[in-house]
This record gives sequence, C-alpha cells and structure tokens, in this order.
Amino acid sequence: MSFKDKSLQCSDCGATFTFSVEEQELFQSRGYTNEPKRCPSCREARKSERYGNSGQSYRSQRQMFPAICAECGKETEVPFRPREGRPVYCSECYSKVRLDK
Ligand SMILES: [Zn+2]
Ligand SMILES: [Zn+2]
Repeated sequence: MSFKDKSLQCSDCGATFTFSVEEQELFQSRGYTNEPKRCPSCREARKSERYGNSGQSYRSQRQMFPAICAECGKETEVPFRPREGRPVYCSECYSKVRLDK
C-alpha cells in the first residue's frame, strides 16, 4: 500500500494541515486506523495539557492538598485530593513505598 500526502482539517482550530506520508506510515505501524483529527500544534497543546508540563498553560499552578503521610505521620502536600481509605505519603515515603512493591 502506498501513501500520499493528505490535507486534513483540524477539528480544534479549523486549520488545514498535511498528514504526511511519513506520519501515515507511522500511524499504520502503530496500528492506528483513524486519521488525526487535529493539526500538529493542537495535538502538541493537548499532549502537554494532559501531561501538565506545558509551562504557560492555564493549569500551570497545580492545586496542592494538605495531607498526613500514612507512613511517617509528617504533614505533606499532594497534587490530588486525598481520598478516604487511600493512604497518602510524603514524597520521601512515597518513593520508599514504591520501591518496596
Ligand atoms: Zn489545530
Ligand atoms: Zn512520610
């Protein structure tokens, strides 16, 4: 099967972008059957949003929640809301607990 560059429209910003032959081959090699819906820059934006490392994103200030470490009893802060019944660890104990498993 041979590929050709395709012009696609971004579902986010409406810009037309090229779905290049290389990308199509990459997509196929990964088993993706759908064409990308977003232009590269919107894809990048979404990716960095998801991983929370885009720097100037509107979520750059992560909310921290106070918690008590289940291991050493120290006060700590975690980037998620502590849930009842789920132990929360300070960063020190967290790495220890993780290594134990
Ligand atoms: Zn876009
Ligand atoms: Zn601790």
